[in-house]
Amino acid sequence: MSDAKTLSEAEAANELMRLARQIARHDRLYHADDAPEITDQEYDALTRRNRELEEAFPHLVREDSPSKKVGHAVAASPLSKVTHEVRMMSLDNAFSDEELVEFFARVRRYLNLAEGEPVAFTVEDKIDGLSCSLRYENGKLVRAATRGDGQVGEDVTPNVAHIPDIPQELPPGVPETFEVRGEVYMERAAFAELNRKAEEDGTKPFANPRNAAAGSLRQKDASVTAKRPLRFWAHGWGAASAVPAQTQQEMVSKLAEWGFPISPLFAAYRDEGELIAHYNRIGDARPDLPYEIDGVVYKVDRLDWQGRMGFVAKAPRWAIARKFPAEQAETTLEAIDIQVGRTGKLTPVGRLAPVLVGGVTVTNVTLHNRDEIERLGVRPGDRVVIQRAGDVIPQVVRNLTGDDARDAFTFPDKCPECDSEAVAEEGEVDVRCTGGLICPAQRTQRLEHFVSRKALDIDGFGSKTIAQFFDKGWLESPADIFRLKERREDILALDGWQDKSVEKLLAAVENKREPDAARLLFGLGIRHVGEVTARDLMKHVHELPALREIAQKARDGDEDAASELTAIDGIGPSVVEALGDFFHEPHNVAVWEDLLGEVTPPRYEVETLDSPVAGKIVVFTGKLETMSRDEAKAQAERLGAKAAGSVSAKTDLLVAGPGAGSKLKKAQELGIETTDEAGWAEIVAKAGS
Ligand code: ZN
Repeated sequence: MSDAKTLSEAEAANELMRLARQIARHDRLYHADDAPEITDQEYDALTRRNRELEEAFPHLVREDSPSKKVGHAVAASPLSKVTHEVRMMSLDNAFSDEELVEFFARVRRYLNLAEGEPVAFTVEDKIDGLSCSLRYENGKLVRAATRGDGQVGEDVTPNVAHIPDIPQELPPGVPETFEVRGEVYMERAAFAELNRKAEEDGTKPFANPRNAAAGSLRQKDASVTAKRPLRFWAHGWGAASAVPAQTQQEMVSKLAEWGFPISPLFAAYRDEGELIAHYNRIGDARPDLPYEIDGVVYKVDRLDWQGRMGFVAKAPRWAIARKFPAEQAETTLEAIDIQVGRTGKLTPVGRLAPVLVGGVTVTNVTLHNRDEIERLGVRPGDRVVIQRAGDVIPQVVRNLTGDDARDAFTFPDKCPECDSEAVAEEGEVDVRCTGGLICPAQRTQRLEHFVSRKALDIDGFGSKTIAQFFDKGWLESPADIFRLKERREDILALDGWQDKSVEKLLAAVENKREPDAARLLFGLGIRHVGEVTARDLMKHVHELPALREIAQKARDGDEDAASELTAIDGIGPSVVEALGDFFHEPHNVAVWEDLLGEVTPPRYEVETLDSPVAGKIVVFTGKLETMSRDEAKAQAERLGAKAAGSVSAKTDLLVAGPGAGSKLKKAQELGIETTDEAGWAEIVAKAGS
């Protein structure tokens, strides 16, 4: 991976796009499907890379950046939805002492503190559970909700009534409205017992305690929750009519007084050495704790400082999680299987002799791609070290079998599903099947993608239904979905279909006759055109036929058309090329025309934000007295403005503090509106009212 700073803008934009797509997919697998495919470490590496790129190219931060998202959307949940009055955040991670020390320094810089001014941080163990927000009104528990995507969670009020750690009522004198936040978790012993019973009953065991806690809490039938020994502890709060404390420590003690369990390892220090030492103490205690933890959380103790620091994207600036390293074990790699994905990607999966890692039996590892197999030099029969963290498919970290007489594993050059040639494009690590629409793996998975939640979102169209219809030859391409009503009688004749279910499915299809153009475009699965790219494109071209026209022109060498596309925020040359290739293939054009004969997406428009500086470019210069430059920039971004580093003709507003030099002069020459820090504060206050 190249250093973020050496990338060209287009390369960075492309990589950010790819990361957004990958991370969104892994978020869905982890949170919504309970079927993660990568380890926490790999996930962290993706988000860390995303962060590096965003730091190096702040103007390329995407609207759908993973750094702005928390958890998963709850659309598919049977539980009713709850909108959090105050967003539930996630935490940024530090992976080394150096990164932690950098966090301490960042806090000081942000608050613009005088040298020698002490800063206290709280430090506590980070339990591996399910975040939950408990809303008390007049001292009574009125609602409990899971985190969900941070903004909308699931209502689990009846479920938490069965968790003894959660008081239904608080003592007199508590604030009128107060949301207590913490983690619902299951102790290791209870988890082991639950899985032992599952084995007896022949039901599927849970992957780990976190998974078991989540599965037990998110039950439509609360009597199921009642049978599961869930625990809770509090570590924070959300919406509150008053916060009766000045510091994190005081508030956490209050929570304990009100009857909530809190971390027994909670502490606070001013000394950085002590803060790091406490991490080590918690790490030492980890194997003997009755519950699983995955790290340690640090928070700025003073609440007024927390308020000033606020949030960046999905996480507070005043807190950080220091993660523990992953757990490892040794086993035999028995086989390497190749799976074919929707985009034709061949993914190698390692089958293992079952091995216990961190209390979980592991049988599969992801081997990612051909390069990874080469890097590790693994072959079936090798002894390997694997590691896992959290409830994800683990990875191979080391091959213990040295070179011996056996040959290296040969990565297939034919697709195992359709026997088409499988190749890696120039500069790509992934090997893909070139069978396109003749490859059954790709065809059914493309159809699945087309109807999936983030694409056309057609209810009741699961992979089983698609496979069933596909085998009958009823679904050759997406347009066939809209012709299924002609097959009503045929469907009814299939096993498992009744009048009602057919009716429901066909109604869900009819409901999407006027689909969102960006979702439709995303649903087509064109390479490099993810959710966000699809929206970025449609924001600009508004109509799908216009997109085809401009993409074809660009491919035919019309430079104006190409540069019109690459001028769109977030669109790089690879997208333009992929679109050109897509429309160049007659088969794709036929699929496209067929589809647009069945559906009529309305013209694509987006709303703009209502703020005095929305969409404007603001530059800060000179010394700011009440806040740091970062805080000012963050305010600008919250108001929908873009904070730029230098003054140009495009600049709309210059905020100049004392000592402003050349930028102020240039702005004046260009006739750009300028104001001082107080003027800026007024704009912010106005927008907030
Ligand atoms: Zn194939």
